[in-house]
Amino acid sequence: MEIRTRFAPSPTGDLHIGGARTALFNYLFAKSMKGKFLLRIEDTDLKRSNSSLTEKIINDIKWLNIHWDEEVVFQRQNQNKHKQIIDYLLEKELAFRCFSEKENHTESNIEKIGSREPAFRSPWRDLGKNTQPNKQYVVRFKVPSDPSRINFTDKVRGDLSWDLNTIEDFVIARSDGSSTYNLAVVVDDHNMKISHVIRGEDHLTNTVKQLLVYQALDWVTPEFAHIPLIHNERGEKLSKRDGKSSLLDFKQEGFLPDAMLNYLARLGWSYKDEEFFNLNQAISWFTLDGIGKSPSRFDIKKLLNISKKHLVSKPADEIHALLLQYIKIYKDISLSGSILEKLRQYLPLVVERCTSLGEIFEASLFLFEADEVREKKVLALLDDNSREIISNFRCAIKSANFAWNSKLLNEFINTYCEESSLKFRDIGIPLRIALTGSTSSPSIVHIMEILGEHQTLDRLNINVD
Ligand code: GLU
Repeated sequence: MEIRTRFAPSPTGDLHIGGARTALFNYLFAKSMKGKFLLRIEDTDLKRSNSSLTEKIINDIKWLNIHWDEEVVFQRQNQNKHKQIIDYLLEKELAFRCFSEKENHTESNIEKIGSREPAFRSPWRDLGKNTQPNKQYVVRFKVPSDPSRINFTDKVRGDLSWDLNTIEDFVIARSDGSSTYNLAVVVDDHNMKISHVIRGEDHLTNTVKQLLVYQALDWVTPEFAHIPLIHNERGEKLSKRDGKSSLLDFKQEGFLPDAMLNYLARLGWSYKDEEFFNLNQAISWFTLDGIGKSPSRFDIKKLLNISKKHLVSKPADEIHALLLQYIKIYKDISLSGSILEKLRQYLPLVVERCTSLGEIFEASLFLFEADEVREKKVLALLDDNSREIISNFRCAIKSANFAWNSKLLNEFINTYCEESSLKFRDIGIPLRIALTGSTSSPSIVHIMEILGEHQTLDRLNINVD
């Protein structure tokens, strides 16, 4: 049997970190089994889905380097198939028209995991056609009373048993005739020959309903694997309120796709003690057994750590290209040829100190900005004494005659310090502030070399006098 998985996002918002992880697990599993990974856009909610959101989700998935096989399936295009199945279920009396006002237009989701409350049973489930009024209705699935439990084996959670009395007669067609999620997903998964459905644990009750639909239609059921949810630091479900929760947030901050992919894979899945790996390694190591049962905690420190490792593992030229692309997309700055060259020289010095392209950008800003330090707060750190030191130093270095490179600059500063009874840091710190507008930076003599003599002296003049 061919292994076929799918990612089925509803395009109603940016791709959430949890969704990105679901896509990744489905992809890794399919590829580890030499199978296919498919993408289905669940765009039947006309009010909430739109094509620009679909495009954003597709871009995010591509950005992660997850590639799907076959054509993207748009659920909306399968509506006729859904209707045929609804009609079939009605005809076979496995579903019924429900005219109850109260419950009519909703797909209530009242069951809680482990709830013992008996769920809604419609009074219309066993009434014949003749008694039906001429008014709006929804179509509900007739949840069987015998057997009263459903059992299945989840690939992550093991054997599960569900009391069907806690599952309502759920809506499969709305009053406008359109199919609800639980019907559409079964029809589409069946038609797409999906062998494994891997998704968040919050879909567990949906799975029970979907299994009932599979059984009613006498279709082979796929395997199910429910991934534990992602929690925030306080142990609650990660949500928009936590600040960064969509993939876009991390893209904008300049995290590399390789780092995100590595981190997302480790959110709930493990292989031995491996923490730092690439996509191909993850594919070769991935198994559903490696998915843990308890919720995973979104740990920003761990992400930063992994991200840094990915950054420093890349060749300088690649980082340069990625940074330029990042600046072009997310920062509204155009860089001249000479700045590009300065940036290229500066990158090897700064990469080790940063965890993302965004941080590299921030740390490099002084190269693009005007010579005048705009951060007045930082400039205020220069007291009269250090201003005088810098003024004197500027005069001395201006009249000295040597090739402007980091090695000779270092020698010059050391000799100057000795002659003036100063320590290197007495000059180094104010130099750093005046040249970069920051109190921390890579080696100051390298920065002086990159800025060049002219710009260095200009900055010392403008910012210190
Ligand atoms: N469209 C559903 C969602 O985004 C799909 C869930 C599933 O994988 O079946 O939650």
